[in-house]
Amino acid sequence: MKLEKIKEKAAARTVSYVAPANSIMLWRDPEADIRVVASGCISPSNNTKTGDMLQVASLVDSVGPTEAIKKKIDNIVCFTCALARMVCYVNPVFLLAIWKATNNQEPIGGFPRVLKHVRFGSYGEIAGVLPLNIMKEWIAYLQENKLKWTGYTHRWMDLGVSPWSQWIMASIDAITAAKLNMTVIELKEWANSMDWPTYRVLDKEEVEDLVEGDILPDEILCPYFTHKVQCADCGLCNGKRLPIWSRLLQIFKPNKRKNIVALLGGAKNKRKAYTKAV
Ligand code: SF4
Repeated sequence: MKLEKIKEKAAARTVSYVAPANSIMLWRDPEADIRVVASGCISPSNNTKTGDMLQVASLVDSVGPTEAIKKKIDNIVCFTCALARMVCYVNPVFLLAIWKATNNQEPIGGFPRVLKHVRFGSYGEIAGVLPLNIMKEWIAYLQENKLKWTGYTHRWMDLGVSPWSQWIMASIDAITAAKLNMTVIELKEWANSMDWPTYRVLDKEEVEDLVEGDILPDEILCPYFTHKVQCADCGLCNGKRLPIWSRLLQIFKPNKRKNIVALLGGAKNKRKAYTKAV
């Protein structure tokens, strides 16, 4: 396609929308005490792994994230995540600024018309929290505008076979596996059996430390660790496993979607806490 045509198409996609603030409240359920926010609507994100993506997080609505952790009510948004508090790599002080910035806002009643790729679940759970019809609308907006998204959930066990696996990856880690008295591979296979694509974290920090068998035949290593490809350019962690009924109809053309494996990242103390907890 000629460059002019590409430019024309891109211009047609551009929605004339100026984000009212860098952090925006997208959705809120006062009864459940949850708000869903987007940050990075104006300023670029400086997350070196994700690149510049809109970060969508679920926060406790009534108190800031630091207080929620102190009061041990962060399970309102983190549910039973085994990494909560000690191992979670998200800085609650950074989240507090987002919570404060969205405190006097009302939900915008849609998805911000910002032409940025999106990371769902930068903190807290979105899967099974946000009404499904709203998520469908948001995904439709992203698809219409050829924008990528990534998303992760630790709630896949509670959700079981779920439409959320179309868009979101099941997070697999050794701490959760140990809690359930399973191997991490058994945990991964359990998620896959319920049609969740998986994002499995290995307890290794360097590509050089990998040995044969660390990555299973139906997995690939996240390209960030090999080629420094950022999520904003990659977008492989976007769920998209076909529903089971659809895959059954595809006996002759099975879904070859690979699961993702990642190395241990985050701050040194969090990596240490993870390795200790495994
Ligand atoms: S596989 Fe791609 S989208 Fe997933 S974490 Fe790695 S870089 Fe990001």
